[in-house]
Amino acid sequence: PHDLELVKLTKRYGDTVAVDAIDHVFAPGSYVCLLGPSGCGKSSTLRMIAGHESVSEGAIRLNGLDISALPPAKRGTAMMFQNYALFPHLSVKDNVAFSLRMKGVDKATRHNKAMELLELVDMAHLSERLPAQLSGGQQQRVALARALISEPEVLLLDEPLSALDPFLRVRMRAELKRLQRELGITFLHVTHGQDEALALADEVVVMNNAVIEQAGPARAVFNAP
Ligand code: ADP
Ligand code: ADP
Repeated sequence: PHDLELVKLTKRYGDTVAVDAIDHVFAPGSYVCLLGPSGCGKSSTLRMIAGHESVSEGAIRLNGLDISALPPAKRGTAMMFQNYALFPHLSVKDNVAFSLRMKGVDKATRHNKAMELLELVDMAHLSERLPAQLSGGQQQRVALARALISEPEVLLLDEPLSALDPFLRVRMRAELKRLQRELGITFLHVTHGQDEALALADEVVVMNNAVIEQAGPARAVFNAP
């Protein structure tokens, strides 16, 4: 059980306060959807947790340890982006194994680990393809496998389904929930969609004007039956 805790977490860009001293504890292994109007600070929050953006003030604790000054690869977090950002000249398998190669992991171990994750996302049969030879949904599965190869305790997803057609979006929701159950890690998922949050979230966190306005079970937050 790894709990993630934000303590007075703040982000400023010059005079703009993008995230204003937010406090929150995310239950270990929960699926959390982060909602709110454009510009309210969702992406900044995610990027600070991932380590792609520095923290102006406050702390990010994972298992009680402040990770906010650690490099992204050493935090126990991984992020999957909106546009997937796969390397176009690398095969699916090499895309997934890329970070292990950077760490100097030997080839056989990289291969085995990458194939194991591709099986998890049902993409092992396409491991030799290039990203351009995949559909949007398939590219997204590869991006998921690539994010998971570092064995994160927290998986951060920035509008991961927004580029998919409605049919695929519904299918990928089911896959994300299955991964949550199988891996037992915490998911923190930024979305614009209430329906998405209702389908996925154990907890919904609503941001507005750089603060957390509301948090709780999806049905309570949306007043749904
Ligand atoms: P959201 O993800 O909810 O749309 P963001 O975290 O992207 O919100 O942005 C929050 C606020 O911070 C907005 O006012 C945005 O314009 C500003 N902002 C975000 N990134 C930067 C940046 N790199 N430089 C300056 N301002 C930024
Ligand atoms: P999205 O709306 O797709 O979530 P954003 O437009 O918020 O993406 O952010 C895309 C990139 O632009 C990010 O790297 C962010 O830091 C930067 N950015 C966002 N708002 C501003 C801003 N007001 N000034 C400078 N950079 C910004």
